[in-house]
Amino acid sequence: MRITRLVCQHCGATLSGLGQDKLFFCSNCGKGWVLGETGLEPVQVQCRASADSHLPLPFWMVRATVHVLKRTVRNEFTATMLTFSSRYEDDVLTAKKTETGGHADKRTFLFPAFPVDGLPGIGVALSEHIHDLPEILDIEEDRPDLCGGLISSMDAAVLARCVAVGQETAKADWLAEIEIVLSSVKSQLVILPCSQEVEKVDVAKTGVSFFRRSVQSWDEIVDYHSNRT
Ligand SMILES: [Zn+2]
Repeated sequence: MRITRLVCQHCGATLSGLGQDKLFFCSNCGKGWVLGETGLEPVQVQCRASADSHLPLPFWMVRATVHVLKRTVRNEFTATMLTFSSRYEDDVLTAKKTETGGHADKRTFLFPAFPVDGLPGIGVALSEHIHDLPEILDIEEDRPDLCGGLISSMDAAVLARCVAVGQETAKADWLAEIEIVLSSVKSQLVILPCSQEVEKVDVAKTGVSFFRRSVQSWDEIVDYHSNRT
């Protein structure tokens, strides 16, 4: 068992957070750290929440090249459904599809750095609103206090791919098969000011929200912030 001292490798301040956190923000010097296989590794930070934000939450912003190796779309799927018997017959379907792929593009993904039900879908919605985020703050002194960053950078790379697949399935066609690979993956910790409504949590100015009850550690996160203000 490896024991890592959770102190900022830059200034030596104790890094605070919840018991299982893997992603940290030093509220003393503003550096970001993620717990990797060999201990704490530095991570770039975009702080978009001020010190007086009541509910600053951690998000991953992942930039990557998305290679769509193969994308197969069924044609005339509704017509096929009518002629489709209860037994699976591959030859009914095989002729009626279009295969594309072999292209790549650069994308930026934004999604929660804490487990939440339906995370890929929330990621698809948030990634569309990256231009609506509050501006990056120059965090010279007043820094927010962060907790709840449970998703490591390795898991973030996997989740970025899930969001990319989600973007493909969200297109208005009958997607049958998709092969996607991500390369040149670069991840940043983004701190966003969120607000709690009755049942939902609004993410900054994006218009995207999620249910409080879909976050397992929600009560712990809220307790953490209410004890500190
Ligand atoms: Zn520090």
